[in-house]
Amino acid sequence: MKIAVYPGSFDPVTLGHVDIATRAAALCDRLIVGVYEAPPKNLLFSTQERVELMRQAVSHLPNVEVTAYSELTMDFIRRMGSRAYVRGLRMNSDFEREFEMALMNKVFASDIELLCLMCSQEYQFLSSSLLKEAAALGADVSRLVPDAVAQALKKKFAARRRA
Ligand code: ADP
Repeated sequence: MKIAVYPGSFDPVTLGHVDIATRAAALCDRLIVGVYEAPPKNLLFSTQERVELMRQAVSHLPNVEVTAYSELTMDFIRRMGSRAYVRGLRMNSDFEREFEMALMNKVFASDIELLCLMCSQEYQFLSSSLLKEAAALGADVSRLVPDAVAQALKKKFAARRRA
């Protein structure tokens, strides 16, 4: 496979995301991580921050690039010259939603294929939203995220407490 895209909100990137990016990068010549600018959720980090944190998290992977996008994910994949995208699946929780989204995406882009990688066991429980909840209450999340993300979370919540 030449080019694959790994799209997501990555608010912020966790070691679960890095694990999927690492394994996907081993299967293709180029992996483009697409940071979606405006997901329908409350974001903690700006697009620029999410891109920068992801860039640092995958800087050891020479064939991985990170870029933001705001169009339909299928259009972004085409614009990148790719025909395949990667998603990570945790136990039951992700399957239904991913299946639903994949079927919908097929309506818009029947030539683009979804490749799902099963989440590694140690990250099954890990989600950006739970992580933010714990970090907001002062939990030490440094074992679950890249170092730069742990620092960024500390800074963000310290600033919020001061506000
Ligand atoms: P979304 O794109 O749905 O807003 P995220 O940005 O959190 O969600 O996740 C991007 C992709 O990474 C999705 O395919 C999601 O299932 C996957 N993912 C999220 N958390 C983990 C994890 N702990 N391990 C592996 N994959 C994960």
